[in-house]
Amino acid sequence: MARPLIADIDLDALRHNYRLAGDLAPNSRAVAVLKADGYGHGAVACARALLDLAPAFAVACIEEAVTLREAGIRTPIVLLEGIFEASELHQVEALGLWMAVHSDWQVDALLDYRPRLPIPVWVKVDSGMHRLGFAPERLEAVWQRLKAAPGKACDLHLMSHFATADLDDRGYFTQQMARLGVLADRLGAPLCLANSPATLARPEAHGAWNRPGVMLYGSDPLETATPQSARLAPVMTLRSQIIAVRELGAGECVGYGGRFRTSRSTRIGVVACGYGDGYDRHAVDGTPVLVEGMRAGLAGKVSMDMMTVDITDIPEAGIGSDVVLWGRATNGEVLSVDEVARYCDTISYTLLTGVLPRVPRRYH
Ligand code: PLP
Repeated sequence: MARPLIADIDLDALRHNYRLAGDLAPNSRAVAVLKADGYGHGAVACARALLDLAPAFAVACIEEAVTLREAGIRTPIVLLEGIFEASELHQVEALGLWMAVHSDWQVDALLDYRPRLPIPVWVKVDSGMHRLGFAPERLEAVWQRLKAAPGKACDLHLMSHFATADLDDRGYFTQQMARLGVLADRLGAPLCLANSPATLARPEAHGAWNRPGVMLYGSDPLETATPQSARLAPVMTLRSQIIAVRELGAGECVGYGGRFRTSRSTRIGVVACGYGDGYDRHAVDGTPVLVEGMRAGLAGKVSMDMMTVDITDIPEAGIGSDVVLWGRATNGEVLSVDEVARYCDTISYTLLTGVLPRVPRRYH
């Protein structure tokens, strides 16, 4: 038998989540963010599944766009970070990409370049994330430079990114929105602001375009879930099996460092999934898994190829039992990647993008 670990990818769930992004923002179009190989789900498969729904995709860099184009995807693709060097403009043009610009050198490179047709440009303003983007007070000058060069740039959009749209405390988000409101009024530009949390719960940020990422994959980034969060469907189910069972008395240690110590007669199920597959080694004892659709907890440190779970209270569990590390079990029970992430002191984004290539993806 092959090693039983697999990432099942439910493309209907992806489509469902994309439609939800549209339902929540009926006056916006949603760019489906497919960077980091579709947040670990496989960008090409996700793009193909969304072809008839999404008017545009977004990726981080040219290489990711090339992968989609080579797979025959013709949908517009936004380069969220634009170019990394001037020579990439040839590819931007050849591949028919839309590009963000966040720095003067990118504008200079574009204005020095002679495209056959002007390139659609999204100008990124730093409204408070303080990562990429032009300072608000410089935006108008940049905008005018691009407008004055119609043969080079076209379809100018204003883009920005939120630092705290996921938090209950709306203070900083409101500050960013206020800055953006002033700029948008002055430029009269179409806006693209909303990431997943803003798409889910901040309708005032919905623009001509939104840019949902993680919600498309069924994860809820909000600090406090809303009724919309409950409508998200998990796309990836990371699934394995119990490959061995240990029967232990009280007072035994399990795994490296002996972190987990039995306090009673305990059955330990050994599951074929470890940090060498991308499962987070920071998972604490008690991190939930579903064994035959029933909750059990991690017992002991995650190893490279295996982890150990306490199956004492699931007597029917044994070698070959189905184990869901996150996602949906065959009995319909769901263990959200967001919940697992909390036990690992991380976020769903790192767990999903962290599933390594040795885990086969199986598409449905
Ligand atoms: N837009 C930009 C510029 C991003 O960097 C990201 C993700 O990091 C997104 C949109 C999508 O964000 P989320 O996955 O939170 O929806």
